Amino acid sequence: MNDRIPVKVITPVKVHKPDAQKHDNHYGPRSHIYVRKVEGMLETLRRFFGLFFLGLFVILPWIQFNGHQAILLDIGAQRFNIFGLTLWPQDLTLLAWIFIVAAFALFFVTTFAGRVWCGFMCPQTTWTFIYIWFEEQIEGSRNKRIKLDERPMDFDKFWRKLLKHLAWVATALLTALVFVGYFTPIEVLFVEFFTGEAPFWATFSVIFFTFCTYGNAGWMREIMCTHICPYARFQSAMFDKDTLTVAYNAKRGEKRGPRSRKMTKEQLQQKELGDCIDCNLCVQVCPTGIDIRNGLQYECINCGACVDACNGVMDKMNYEKGLISFTSEHQLAGGTTKVMRPKLVGYAVVLAVMVGLLVLEIATRIPLEVDIIRDRGALSRETNDGLIENVYTLKILNKSQLKSIYEISILGLPGHRFSGESLVTVEGGEAFSVPISVAIDERELDETITNIKIKVAGSDTQGTPVEVEEPTTFIFQ
Ligand code: SF4
Ligand code: SF4
Repeated sequence: MNDRIPVKVITPVKVHKPDAQKHDNHYGPRSHIYVRKVEGMLETLRRFFGLFFLGLFVILPWIQFNGHQAILLDIGAQRFNIFGLTLWPQDLTLLAWIFIVAAFALFFVTTFAGRVWCGFMCPQTTWTFIYIWFEEQIEGSRNKRIKLDERPMDFDKFWRKLLKHLAWVATALLTALVFVGYFTPIEVLFVEFFTGEAPFWATFSVIFFTFCTYGNAGWMREIMCTHICPYARFQSAMFDKDTLTVAYNAKRGEKRGPRSRKMTKEQLQQKELGDCIDCNLCVQVCPTGIDIRNGLQYECINCGACVDACNGVMDKMNYEKGLISFTSEHQLAGGTTKVMRPKLVGYAVVLAVMVGLLVLEIATRIPLEVDIIRDRGALSRETNDGLIENVYTLKILNKSQLKSIYEISILGLPGHRFSGESLVTVEGGEAFSVPISVAIDERELDETITNIKIKVAGSDTQGTPVEVEEPTTFIFQ
C-alpha cells in the first residue's frame, strides 16, 4: 500500500486559438476562421488530389459506353450501370462487397496514416478549399478579409461579397447538376434544367444539393468535420502508437517565443528557447482553427497545412524542417515508426482477400437470370393425345447491356415434347416472360416427381456466350 503514483510536472503551454474566448465557449456564437493561404509540398499534393478527384467526378458521368451513359445509377428502373456491369436489386450482395472493401480500405489507411482521407480526398475538404480559393481571389488575403468584415458596408464591400456568393452558388449549382447527373441522363438533365422542362424530382434534387453544397462548403465548413461527421469520432479507435499523424515536436519546439534571426545557439540556450518562434502561422492556416501545438485533437483533419506553414518558417529561420510533421507517437518519443505491425498487416490481409473475392464475384458473374414459375392451377394435366403435361412461365432477365437471343431447352426428360417459344430475344437490361409446356408419355416416367433442368443458352450481339441451367421438377399426379 506504500506504492505511490509517480507525479509528472507538466509546464503549462500557452493556448493560441484564433479567438480563444469564443472558441472555448461551446454555447456562444462560432468564431469565423479566416484561413491563411499556404504554399508547400503537402499543399501541392492536396491540390493534385483535389483536382484529380474533382476532374473524375465531373468527367465520369459524361463518358459514353456501349451507346449509353457509362455510369448511370437509375434508381427508378432499379438498375445501376457501371461501364459494362449492370447491377440489379438481386445483386445487392455485390454492392455489400463493395461497401465492405471500402470500409476495410478506410480502416487500413487510417491505421497507417491517420485521417489522410479527410485532409486530402474528402469532398468536404476539397469543396471547402475551392470556396476558400474564391474568397482569396475576390476578398483578398486573410488580413484583408478580416478588415473587410470589420468595416461597415460600402460599395466595395458589397460587390466583393455579392461576387463571392455568386461564385459559391454557381459552383454549388454545377456540383449539384453533375451529382444528380449520376442518377439521370446528364446531357438531358443539363438541357431540361435550364429550359425548365426537367421532372420535378430532378429539379428538386438539383436545388437541394445546391443548397447543401453552398451551406457545407461556404458556411458550415469545419463544423461538418468537428460536429457532424461520425468518422472524426471513431477514427481514434483505429489509431495506434505507430499511426502517422500531424504532430508538433514539443521537445524541440518548447519553450516557444519570438527571437531575432541573428540569435546564436548559445543565446537561445541561455533563454531556454526551443525552435518554435510563436509566430502562430500554423494556427492561421488551419482550416479547423486549432493549434496543433496543444497535441492530437479530434478536430485535426491531417491536411498538413500547418506542416507546410511551419516548414516555411523553419526555412526562413535556418532551422531544420519538421517541427510539425507527419509522425508517429513512437517516433516523437525518440523511437522509430513500425510499419509491419499485426493490426496493420491484419487489415491489409483482410482487404486483399475482400478485393480478391469482389473481383472473383464480378468475373464469374453470369449476366443472365432465369426464374421458373410453375402453373399454380394444376401441377400436371393430360393433353388431348393422352400425354402428361406440366406448364411453366420462365422469367428471363438479360443482365447485360446488349440485346441477346436465347434458346430454351429441357434437360433430364428424354422423349418429352416441348411447346412454346424456344427462341426468344431480350433487350439488354430487360426482363421477358415466356410460357412453355413440357409433355411426355406417362410410360416414360419412373417417378411421380422427376428432377429436370430448364436450360437457357444464348449470346449477345457481340457473340459472348452465356447459359443458365435452372433446376425444377416434372410432376405426374
Ligand atoms: S508555425 Fe511553427 S514556429 Fe510558428 S508558431 Fe507554429 S509551430 Fe511555432
Ligand atoms: S492542425 Fe494542421 S493538419 Fe490538423 S487540420 Fe489544422 S492545419 Fe490541418
